[in-house]
Amino acid sequence: MSVYIITARDEAELSSPIFAAGDVNPDESAAAFTTQLKAEEYLEAAGWRKTDVVVELDSESMLDWIAALRSDGVESIAVDPDRRAQESGARQAVISLHGLTAELAGIIERRIHTAPPPAGAEELQRIDIYCCQACGQVVEQLPEKEPPTCCDREMELSAFDTVRPGELREAVVAAE
Ligand SMILES: [Zn+2]
Repeated sequence: MSVYIITARDEAELSSPIFAAGDVNPDESAAAFTTQLKAEEYLEAAGWRKTDVVVELDSESMLDWIAALRSDGVESIAVDPDRRAQESGARQAVISLHGLTAELAGIIERRIHTAPPPAGAEELQRIDIYCCQACGQVVEQLPEKEPPTCCDREMELSAFDTVRPGELREAVVAAE
């Protein structure tokens, strides 16, 4: 989906004409268009062809455009405004910039609060749990190790568990 706007021909930064989107929408608005044709028609009808051009916004420039509008105190975006209807005071479809910014902030907040852990951090490590039948001593150790000994005999494997790396604690096998 592409978005087109009208911006000043000779300026490096995006600079859109600001207008009131109809008498009943007195807020300062900038226009955004869903097709290049609608944007060109508006440009023509407004008589701005000498000073302004139609550009397609990519995602980067869209955010720059929104930020520039906000810093200019613009309150809304008129969607596919019709120049003649607008001049006769007809209501145009508008999006609140404040609402839009709140929505974007909500998306960013959610992404921050649900950021995945660093790669590999959630990999679980299997550990073996050995138990001494004589004294009840419990030892956890990595599966690749030899069975520990306690009370002069090899301890028995009694369970498996999984832990996160860093949570692994290897009990020291009591010597005799
Ligand atoms: Zn023991």
